[in-house]
Amino acid sequence: MTDWTRASAAQMIAAMKAGEVTSVELTQAHLDRIADVDGAVHAFLHVNGEEALEVARGVDAAREAGEDLPELAGVPIAVKDILVTQGMPTTAGSKILEGWEPPYDATVTRKLREARMPILGKTNMDEFAMGSSTEHSGYGPTHNPWDLERIPGGSGGGSSASIASWEAPLAIGSDTGGSIRQPASVTGTVGVKPTYGGVSRYGAIALASSLDQLGPCARTVEDAALLHEVMGGHDPMDATSLNEPVPSCVAAAREGREGDLTGVRVGVIKELSGEGYQAGVEQRFNESLEKLKGLGAEIVEVSCPSFEYALAAYYLILPSEASSNLAKFDSVRFGMRVEKGNVERTMGATRAEGFGDEVKRRIILGTYALSAGYYDAYYGSAQKVRTLIQRDFEAAFEKADVLVSPTTPTTPFKIGERIDDPLAMYLNDVATIPANLAGIPGMSLPSGIAPEDGLPTGFQILAPAHEDARMYRIGAALEKALAAEWGGTLSSQAPELEVAK
Ligand code: GLN
Repeated sequence: MTDWTRASAAQMIAAMKAGEVTSVELTQAHLDRIADVDGAVHAFLHVNGEEALEVARGVDAAREAGEDLPELAGVPIAVKDILVTQGMPTTAGSKILEGWEPPYDATVTRKLREARMPILGKTNMDEFAMGSSTEHSGYGPTHNPWDLERIPGGSGGGSSASIASWEAPLAIGSDTGGSIRQPASVTGTVGVKPTYGGVSRYGAIALASSLDQLGPCARTVEDAALLHEVMGGHDPMDATSLNEPVPSCVAAAREGREGDLTGVRVGVIKELSGEGYQAGVEQRFNESLEKLKGLGAEIVEVSCPSFEYALAAYYLILPSEASSNLAKFDSVRFGMRVEKGNVERTMGATRAEGFGDEVKRRIILGTYALSAGYYDAYYGSAQKVRTLIQRDFEAAFEKADVLVSPTTPTTPFKIGERIDDPLAMYLNDVATIPANLAGIPGMSLPSGIAPEDGLPTGFQILAPAHEDARMYRIGAALEKALAAEWGGTLSSQAPELEVAK
């Protein structure tokens, strides 16, 4: 019998159309897989089995009746717990929202429902998407399917781990400083941060509004493209939503697989290599460059000198915006409430108990950076650095069509290793943060396995704003060249997980 959890979304679509499998069978296979392995992986905070099967039954009946269905109809999906979902709990990984059921759907949630995709459940994440390891979740960490003692990245570790462990073929992530790309890199999967404004954030619990972007997580570039096109598009409910057509990601990915990159200039960012980058990560990165060259691309070196300050600027801008966004968790409107006599004390006690340490750290930092007297020195300077970074990108894109780097400096570290050292944790994001500061799209795809530890490595592709399709073309070309050596997706090289009895 075919194990449908091992198929790509594109294969599932074809098989459903050919009558080889039903959506109910696909959905049930993934729910069974979740029952088998999620006790060990802990990718999910909530499993939505009954409703998912009901949606699947509806799709099967519609297909039976000869109705026209959306492309991804019947393909199950996991959703990061940052998206509000009517009828399902939404916590953003925080105890302060434990038990909260949103009264409405996020725009992306609605789009998934309209696409008739069974939603398998909500995935674990660092509290309010602050972190790079999912260890800051209020509900315990997620484990990396490649090695259960290691982190699956963050903040969207649950989404990426669910895909890497075959619990879901697709998932939704959010990327404020790398939370789609970094987990993709350390779990050997694909993750895309679209151009800022390309996907509506309405109903995505805000972390830092000038940086946040929702995007697709998948095991192949084409699958990510399919989901990207479902998620994207203008939304009057989001003031920052771009009013332009969704980029043709699927066509670009398919074109990329033809494997001709003649005339494409690939810029290697000089500043994102060297000190701090693991040997095996750099080795796989350089081999990927050779593959691109073999497909006809021209490799050039570019320099982005202001990237040196990107991390510092990000960790002022993000806490500043987060401190404001998180003010709404006040014990009155949502979730937890710790009664302490009067409103002020109740608010204080609720926030003291409901928020974890990392969230408190950033609220304090952000409040300080925004305070009168310090605003210009901290927040104002960070915004100036942001402009310099945008200029670096503009200059680099004069010389190259896409820019590339390793996605993360290292393979996944051990759970517990960096939890008490926030700066070491923040350093993980050094290669992903610049794209958020500039609002440009970025993709991470697997580049291989580091020889020294047997763990996955990631390759990042960045494109100018609005040119998301370009990344899909180049990513799909590279993926195809690399997959020839792996005999399929990199996920198929991961050690088998033990199945619960
Ligand atoms: N790791 C980064 C942080 O902690 C990115 C978070 C994100 O993209 N949501 O802020």
